[in-house]
Formats: sequence, structure tokens, C-alpha cells
Amino acid sequence: MSAHTEQQQADPQRAQTADFGYQAVDPSEKAGLVGDVFRSVAGRYDLMNDLMSFGAHRLWKRFAASQSALRPGDMALDVAGGSGDMARHFARQVRPDGGVVLTDINAAMLAEGRNKMIDAGLVGNTAGNIGYALTDAEKLCFADDCFHCVSIAFGLRNVTHRQEALASLYRVTRPGGRLLLLEFARPLIPLLEKAYDWYSFGVIPKLGKRVAEDEESYRYLVESIRRYPDRQTVRGMMNRAGFEDIKIHNLSGGIVTLHIGFKY
Ligand code: SAM
Repeated sequence: MSAHTEQQQADPQRAQTADFGYQAVDPSEKAGLVGDVFRSVAGRYDLMNDLMSFGAHRLWKRFAASQSALRPGDMALDVAGGSGDMARHFARQVRPDGGVVLTDINAAMLAEGRNKMIDAGLVGNTAGNIGYALTDAEKLCFADDCFHCVSIAFGLRNVTHRQEALASLYRVTRPGGRLLLLEFARPLIPLLEKAYDWYSFGVIPKLGKRVAEDEESYRYLVESIRRYPDRQTVRGMMNRAGFEDIKIHNLSGGIVTLHIGFKY
């Protein structure tokens, strides 16, 4: 890896360009392009997740939530929460008198999440305080030191200035609290890597075309995974943001990685 790429991975806000899949775009344009992707797929987002991962995304999120250490009465925050899978796990862990805030930058995705929380019966009077906020991961609209557990699942990859987002996640985490960062990664087994590449580029965009009528957004998904920093770079970025004792769990042969970082 070149020194330039390493620096871009570690500190993208210093870069002149941002990755939008394999395209290099002006950083000021990336949020709008990512916004278009998620507005387009919002209605089919959950169905596509189930089809693409054969349901495995549910297990990855369940495992991540099992690492939250949340207890009844605690406060949890799901950033870039989309249709709210992590938030629903948290709501069950903190009830009856704790709270969960589901957030996203995209109103269409947040509306999906809110509807799914209501469909699951997770409303204010049955599951503590449930809140929703339209907010950018880079500039979260919460006071310092609020949340016992903060999650960002399959979200950081889509953010333009990831180091700023990590600083913002750190700021709102309570001392003694933790960040759960769930994201795609490169498989650890070489044979799996070949099959994964074939499936990613050969099948997923076609599935996107058929199910969500949007091939390009799903091409962005697979390209953005290739452009996302590797595990150790992510660990370093979390460290720079202030998180300590970072633990890495590789799931499904390394296709997905959970980084857990603590704020002391
Ligand atoms: N966390 C959900 C899950 O695991 O299913 C949704 C993940 S989805 C792949 C990525 C989400 O990140 C989208 O809902 C998108 O709107 C959101 N997002 C992208 N950029 C963001 C930003 N800067 N701040 C907050 N959310 C963002």
C-alpha cells in the first residue's frame, strides 16, 4: 500500500478526494451521492440484506448486540442506524426504564427504522424511552458523555470524514461505555476471498437490479467495501479518536468485523 493511500485510509479528511465506491469524488459531494443511494434503496433495504447475506446479517447484528453490556436503565445510541436492527436489540436490553435513540442522516432510512420499531411493539410505554434523530455521524446532535453503548453498523464505510465521525462517537459515549463498530472486511481465508469477489461483483449488483431496481447502488456497496480501511487501520483510527482496549471479532471467515472500543 502506498504512503498516500495509507494516509487517506487513516485520515481521509486530509484527502483532496473521497471514495464513492471506485470513483474519486470531491469530499463535498460524497454525502449527497450516498444520500441518493439510500433514498433509492430504503424500501427494499431489509429484503436485500436478507437475500444478499442469506440472513447472516441478523446473526452478525445479534452477536454485536450481545457485546453491548447494556443493562436495564442504560442509554444506547444507534448511529447510521437505518432500519434499526441494532436499536431493536438495544431497546429490549435497556427496558423498562432505559432509552434508545435511533439516528441516521437519511430521512427515508430513518422512517423505515421508526416503522420497524413500532411494528416490533417497541414504543415509548413498553420499552423505555425510544427516540429518533436525523443527524450526521460526523456531528452528532447530543451532549458529551450521554450513552453507555454506541453502535455504528455498516455505516462508517459510507461516511465522508470517518475520523471526525469516530471523534463524534467518542464524544457522546459515557466514560465506562463502549463503541460497537460492525463493518464488512476482506475475508481471511484466500479461497473464500475468490468466491466472495465472484459473488460480490457477479451476483449482488444483478440482485439489486432485480429486487430494488437499482444495480448501481449495489455496485457502490461492493466497491465501497473494497475501499474501506483494513482492520488494523480501523483499530488505529479508533485509537486516535480516544477509544482504548480495542477488541476485534472476525465473523463469517472475516467477511464482517466487529471492533469494540472503550472510553475510560
Ligand atoms: N445500521 C443499519 C444496518 O446495519 O442495517 C443501516 C446500515 S446502511 C448500510 C448505512 C446507513 O448509513 C444508511 O442508512 C445511511 O443513510 C447512513 N449514513 C450514511 N452516511 C451517514 C452519515 N454521515 N451520518 C449518519 N448516517 C449516515
